[in-house]
Amino acid sequence: MKRSRQVVIGSSAAGVSAAFAMRRAGFDGAITIVGSDPHEPYERPPLSKSLLSTGDTSLKPIFPAQSYLDDDLELILGVGVRRLDTARQTVELADGRILAAGHVLLATGVGARRLPIPGADLANVMVLRDAADAGALASRLTSGGPLLVIGGGFIGLELAAAARDRGLDVTVVEQAALPLVGVAGRPIAELVRQLHEDRGVRFVLGTTVEALVGTNEVEAAILSDGSRRPAATVVVGVGVVPRVELAEAAGIEVDRYGIVVDRFGATTNPWVSAAGDVASQPHPALDTRGRIEHWDVALRHGAAVGASAVGVATEFDALPYAWSDQFGLTFQIFGRPRATDQFVLRAGATQERFIGFWMRDERVGAVMGLNAAREVAAARRLIESGLHVPAARLLDAEVDLRRLPKQLAADLS
Ligand SMILES: Cc1cc2nc3c(=O)[nH]c(=O)nc-3n(C[C@H](O)[C@H](O)[C@H](O)COP(=O)(O)OP(=O)(O)OC[C@H]3O[C@@H](n4cnc5c(N)ncnc54)[C@H](O)[C@@H]3O)c2cc1C
Repeated sequence: MKRSRQVVIGSSAAGVSAAFAMRRAGFDGAITIVGSDPHEPYERPPLSKSLLSTGDTSLKPIFPAQSYLDDDLELILGVGVRRLDTARQTVELADGRILAAGHVLLATGVGARRLPIPGADLANVMVLRDAADAGALASRLTSGGPLLVIGGGFIGLELAAAARDRGLDVTVVEQAALPLVGVAGRPIAELVRQLHEDRGVRFVLGTTVEALVGTNEVEAAILSDGSRRPAATVVVGVGVVPRVELAEAAGIEVDRYGIVVDRFGATTNPWVSAAGDVASQPHPALDTRGRIEHWDVALRHGAAVGASAVGVATEFDALPYAWSDQFGLTFQIFGRPRATDQFVLRAGATQERFIGFWMRDERVGAVMGLNAAREVAAARRLIESGLHVPAARLLDAEVDLRRLPKQLAADLS
């Protein structure tokens, strides 16, 4: 087992869980976590949910502060890493400090993508990625309507829901034909649109924003259909960019998704591993390698890569899981839908409760439910069992999904 100092870069889900996993794996040398975010490591998902809908901007710690002391993990917060020196095996911090490192774990995540349009730098044009963004946005939600959200993905929809909960006038501009359609497909996207429209969210679909206008502060958006929408606050939620700069500058392989890693998080430089959102990983749920941008995955991938980095080889192959809360309802997704899957929506679906399955070779490959936790849990077991499932059984709302594995096994015997 390597004993020289482990330096973890990034103090969020993947980074901190990697550091704790190194200790659990028996590593007894120094572990230092360096994060550019000044706050004690906190949960990111509430930033677009409870924090905005309640206005309570306190942050939820990922782990209790005492646990870093108990495990002797050093935290250097509010300071970015500027450079990795692969020849000297040192890490250079933005404040000039140089840390010697026996091994480096990059957990630098992703940043919010900005829109290269006129007016994007006006005041009250925001993104939502970290605590500072959420704090600024929460204060706008008390008085900053009308709110224009650019992008109808999960973050944009959660934010739209939270802002409606607080009574704001909300418009979502989305370039696709429906919100969430790229992730969830048309049948679910239609339900999601209804869910939001019923609660007063307005959508402008198949449309992009060409410019933001105003004097100092944003006042309106000019859309690609030529219309002008008033906006006192604009949030850009159009995807993310992986933070690969340190890896790239160090000559480590990077692809279009992120830092290229193997099943154990090793990069093309044996001195460096990578985990979490920034990693382009060969996960069995993906048809090609890629990023999996989920909180639960970042925690588990970080833990597996952290253990592997100190010599306890641990593969991360658990079924990816994500959730999203909107208007007090919870979406849950297990697995990763693929373009080639056959989609089956269970009978009786409404905009407040549904479950849909992505079928692959007559097996369930992925599932998404809204307000259907028990059925989703049962579907997860179907995915993990790899059982052949006739789509008709999934469609039929009378079939108890929890009993289905037993029934299918009995059918076979
Ligand atoms: C608002 C919001 C809501 C979300 N909600 C959900 C949800 O409901 N469900 C779900 O499954 N997922 C959700 N996600 C996604 C989830 O939060 C991410 O998948 C997860 O945070 C990824 O963790 P990570 O540690 O890989 O990267 P990140 O959380 O992105 O953290 C990377 C950290 O590295 C730091 N860093 C970057 N570069 C440097 C550097 N050079 N030096 C030092 N530090 C650096 C950054 O400041 C950052 O703190 C949400 C994301 C956001 C932004």
